[in-house]
Amino acid sequence: MSMQNGYPLFDTFSRIGLHFAHGNGAWLTTDEGEQYLDFTSGIAVNVLGHTHPYLIEALKKQAEKIWHISNLFEDPLQINLAKRLCAASFADKIFFTNSGAEAVECAIKTARRYHHVNGNPERFRIITFEGAFHGRTLATLAATGQKKYLEGFGPKVEGFDQVPFGNDAALLSAITGETAAILIEPIQGEGGLRIIPNTALKFLRNICNEKELLLIFDEVQCGIGRTGKFFACEWANVTPDIMSIAKGIGGGFPLGACLATMKAAKGMTPGTHGSTFGGNPLAMAVGNAVLDIVLEPGFLDHVRIAGDVLKKGLSAIVDNYPHIVSRTEGFGLFSGLKCVIPNIDVISALRNEKLLTVSANTNVVRIFPPLNIGKEEIRDGLSRIEKAFERISR
Ligand SMILES: *Cc1c(COP(=O)(O)O)cnc(C)c1O
Repeated sequence: MSMQNGYPLFDTFSRIGLHFAHGNGAWLTTDEGEQYLDFTSGIAVNVLGHTHPYLIEALKKQAEKIWHISNLFEDPLQINLAKRLCAASFADKIFFTNSGAEAVECAIKTARRYHHVNGNPERFRIITFEGAFHGRTLATLAATGQKKYLEGFGPKVEGFDQVPFGNDAALLSAITGETAAILIEPIQGEGGLRIIPNTALKFLRNICNEKELLLIFDEVQCGIGRTGKFFACEWANVTPDIMSIAKGIGGGFPLGACLATMKAAKGMTPGTHGSTFGGNPLAMAVGNAVLDIVLEPGFLDHVRIAGDVLKKGLSAIVDNYPHIVSRTEGFGLFSGLKCVIPNIDVISALRNEKLLTVSANTNVVRIFPPLNIGKEEIRDGLSRIEKAFERISR
């Protein structure tokens, strides 16, 4: 074994040297017994915090029954979760994946196949938006369209046209006879929690109807209750034809899905797509348990109330420390702070106060508490932000 720099992992992440030994709700404890308030939620994944007893129970019970059977066989757990996701959304059909990128990849393939089986194989191009993030596979990278991620990975996968954020004229002129679909995050996550206005989402829906394009929403980050609705697009009352989800749906267990209407999924016939692990029984058990809680009456009300407390607190902090942060981004528990100084400096100052946050592009710090967080813990987090900002100001 030869380890050139002594570090056995790919150097693709510059990981922070904190070793967490266990978690509980919104809290993480290091192997040295130090407690951190976790406002990353594993990048919008741990919707119910760490070690939620109900999720542990669901995973343990399933682990004792069966771990993996592959998609050779029907699995009632899969059908149950798919039915529930359909009942809670616009969708009629579900394809389960293990990650967000695979869910987006499936969405892209579904849109292309739709036009193919309709006798329009020339319609394969997908329009995406500046600042987007759709994943790290070669196709989802092409959809993401950011130079810094694409560099050195060979020719960009063909068929993605990126248009500027919020420029209707550019969007309209990008649509050609080869366009298959429009792909958008209703709120850009990595792009700095930029909200696509409701009117803009409605505009996209109308354009897609008019030009017979499929509308794809990527709710990998903003979905599963994060904004106080089950899906972020519900705020605009707009439904897509296809949607990718992941992150929150597994509550920390790797799970994603592509949701589609019957019509949009018509090209995904036997043999056209597959996954060995997708829809694995362990993931299905946890996904069903996450839905039991997130879809329970009152849960999303709590998310909205807690989100208001966070957002109001952050707004007050922005007013008091304009030399550090200029405004809030996103909303509710899907919030961020737009920084005046480098966001990495803000994140490290917050970490000194034992508050964990995560960066986004456009110099934003993302603040993602678990969705079941208490108001007291939010206030605790806010006071840690103030303490850190006091210190920076001195
Ligand atoms: C995280 C993310 C992805 C990719 O998900 P992975 O699980 O990392 O593959 C895709 N789209 C959006 C909007 C995301 O936030």
